[in-house]
Amino acid sequence: MISELIARIETYRGSITDLNVDVIVNAANASLLGGGGVDGAIHQAAGPGLLEECRTLGGCTTGDAKITKGYNLKAKFVIHTVGPVWRGGNYGEAELLANCYRCCLELTREHDLRSIAFPAISTGAYGYPVEAAARVAIDATRNWLIGNTTLERVVFACFDERTLSTYERLFRDPD
Ligand code: ADP
Repeated sequence: MISELIARIETYRGSITDLNVDVIVNAANASLLGGGGVDGAIHQAAGPGLLEECRTLGGCTTGDAKITKGYNLKAKFVIHTVGPVWRGGNYGEAELLANCYRCCLELTREHDLRSIAFPAISTGAYGYPVEAAARVAIDATRNWLIGNTTLERVVFACFDERTLSTYERLFRDPD
């Protein structure tokens, strides 16, 4: 059971926009009207149709997620989620971040998607420490996969070496 779960999860070093998966996740801001970091890269690669569709969504609250088409991306869909801003850890950040992962995963089930790629949500402009965020990401994803067999592939897209090595260490040695 455990090894079967791990077989569905992989890490990747590079831009999430290059991935050939059913859906990529965007770490967006609440307006869903564009930003820097991974959001900027996704909008640039997707083309203007993505922003047009995002304008119709009415924003998104922290911990929630909304799905759009992928436009010029290899991915057929984009799930936009809004991570918490790190305020020291005592403001429900971990629960809100776990909610992001769970909402995205639920959307894959509703839309019958088989593969998803996540960036390290909240660890850029929103300041969430990378290791703490990676633990939340891995725990929430593993727990969800235990009860769901629809997803065949979950990719954690790591933009920099430090993020990649953190995820890989946590997979090797979770404690
Ligand atoms: P947030 O506002 O949620 O912190 P950011 O986009 O600032 O979102 O950063 C989230 C993570 O995404 C960071 O680890 C950042 O290095 C990473 N990132 C930035 N560009 C890309 C990209 N093209 N592909 C994957 N990850 C990216």
